[in-house]
Amino acid sequence: MVVGWLRPSDDNPSMPMPPFAALGLTLIERDWLSANQIVFAAAPDSPATVVDTGYVTHADTTLALVRHALGAAPLVRIVNTHLHADHCGGNQRLQQAWPDVQTCVPQASLAAVRTWDTWALGYARVHQHCPPFTADHGLAPGATLLLGGHPWQIHAAPGHDPHAVLLWEPASRTLIAGDALWQARLAIIFPELDDADGFAPTRATLDLIEQLAPRWVIPGHGPAFADVTSALAASRRRLDQFEAEPRRHDAHAARALLMFALMARTAPSRAALQADLQATPVFQQMARRLGQRDLAAWTDELVQRLLHDGWVVQQGDTLRVATRH
Ligand SMILES: [Zn+2]
Repeated sequence: MVVGWLRPSDDNPSMPMPPFAALGLTLIERDWLSANQIVFAAAPDSPATVVDTGYVTHADTTLALVRHALGAAPLVRIVNTHLHADHCGGNQRLQQAWPDVQTCVPQASLAAVRTWDTWALGYARVHQHCPPFTADHGLAPGATLLLGGHPWQIHAAPGHDPHAVLLWEPASRTLIAGDALWQARLAIIFPELDDADGFAPTRATLDLIEQLAPRWVIPGHGPAFADVTSALAASRRRLDQFEAEPRRHDAHAARALLMFALMARTAPSRAALQADLQATPVFQQMARRLGQRDLAAWTDELVQRLLHDGWVVQQGDTLRVATRH
């Protein structure tokens, strides 16, 4: 975990600095289980705000980090780029800590939050836990949100999640991308696992980002970056592969969801993890799509391959993510 932003090193004093202080924001870089937090200090007409709140198992850490970033000021607003459990799993904890906080979620997800429909929100399907929280406002594409005293535009960012939004500050050309653009990887395109079209919306969102021409991107995971051209090229290359051969996307999704399931548990036994995977609807669905009739054998093979490739380590009967990742 890294808090803040790296300084120009002595051997590279010309490294450009992101304008985060001028934007009134603190980037709290987390990991691949918990999404990053972007904390905006209070400014005239702009209440103190956090964008995204991490996964539930890290909620106490998220609370401590947000408190530290805000100092004595209360948190007044929570904003979520989308409602995957690693982006809003700390919402409930923050709402308990600051009972007057207002929570803003993508407009298209508002109804599902209000009825706490865990199928519509996706948690039941992937067996990820997200403690229920309340939502006060919808983030409508085309609207503007004052954050840190600056107007941030809300743009629709379908693809990885059909309801996701981007936050864009045009004066500094800073983009809060959620999981729509990472520096070197492409996130799972969830609609494709449901036989819905996710590839075309993903491509359209990458095109939108290219048109916006960000100078800085703050992704949902990983450090902020300035080389947007390389990031877009890497995402498009991966998307091209997935479109040409959709089974590769299913295989990628299975590996990524398995890694998340492992990170979300503390040293599970291999048998317990595999039993969980076999009971998880999205794994049953991916096995069907990949023509794998023997679910137990397929999940065992997935684990075995991650062990072989060094992503996962087995000690006795328990599994954990390899530390080098
Ligand atoms: Zn996501």
